[in-house]
Amino acid sequence: MLIQCESSTPLKECEKIITILEQYRLEYLVSRAESKIWIGVSSSCSEVVLDALKKVISSQQLIPITGPYKMVSRLCSPNGTIIKILHPKKKLKSQNRFLEIGGKKIVLMAGPCAIESQEQLETISHELEGASVSVLRASAYKPRTSPYSFQGMGEEGLILHRNAQKKHQLLIETEIMDVRTLPLVAAHVDIIRIGARNMQNYDLLKAVGASGKPVILKRGIAATVEEFLMSAEYLMAHGNHQVILCERGIRTFETSSRYTLDLSSVAVLKRLTHLPVIVDPSHAAGRKDIIPALCKAALAVGADGLLVEVHHHPKVAKCDGSQALLPHEFVELSKELKKIANAIGRSL
Ligand code: PEP
Ligand code: MN
Repeated sequence: MLIQCESSTPLKECEKIITILEQYRLEYLVSRAESKIWIGVSSSCSEVVLDALKKVISSQQLIPITGPYKMVSRLCSPNGTIIKILHPKKKLKSQNRFLEIGGKKIVLMAGPCAIESQEQLETISHELEGASVSVLRASAYKPRTSPYSFQGMGEEGLILHRNAQKKHQLLIETEIMDVRTLPLVAAHVDIIRIGARNMQNYDLLKAVGASGKPVILKRGIAATVEEFLMSAEYLMAHGNHQVILCERGIRTFETSSRYTLDLSSVAVLKRLTHLPVIVDPSHAAGRKDIIPALCKAALAVGADGLLVEVHHHPKVAKCDGSQALLPHEFVELSKELKKIANAIGRSL
């Protein structure tokens, strides 16, 4: 069961609902967003509870969702959700200050795997001009399989990332690995990314949920679609209604690519949830030659955006050089993607 209230609902009204839920010993979470208050209730409510609730709220406010995830369910918003992310540059005209994800326009996010230097971020941002990129991806904290591999520049990298934004109108996104760095990461970037390895780090999900900062949640390498949605539910139930899901490939028996890009999950997710869904073909493939094909397929299957690794000098990249496109290759690819977007009634 999900109970939906206007954000203007007086506290006393919400308290009446909560008193009833507690009286009947139901587990619940209250999630406040800008425009609404959602109360997720763990189980379906008995007639007695429903009758009690209907005395304090209208029946339209009761959404009978019996599945495990509630706030992320498409039943809550059958038309889908468009997430609006504010650009920090106050000088931008108001119509350019918001990036919409989940609308008609497909959003391109591109950039290096890891932040390496100011020059690297400047060069890539500059060379990506003309590719309709809205978000510069780059990580300051790197989850690496080997403890001997480059672990990221940390706080210094976050500062470089923020500096790169001064010259370009790009929003910036980066990975968070540790709940202790949340205040720092949230202060530096516009969008936080929770990587595949942390999809089920529930303390991190709760904290990023409470931060209210726009978040890209990546699918875990061995997570089912339902587990993926339950992690998104953590974010929403803890107060974050700006959640973007990202399919990035899952582990299968196949070895021709690093992971297997599960494009059917995009089609499935679009049916199950109202949240925007983007695709990261780079980490799925682990090789650059098939990235263009996967990007095109992702748009055709209904993705709302792409997250692609691009590096101006992949041979010396500190991380994931073999899967990085050159900036000019991404500019060329974006022209092809534009044609696909137009063919499916969307734009780039
Ligand atoms: C990344 O996007 O930098 C990354 C590490 O991806 P994933 O979490 O999907 O492995
Ligand atoms: Mn990478």
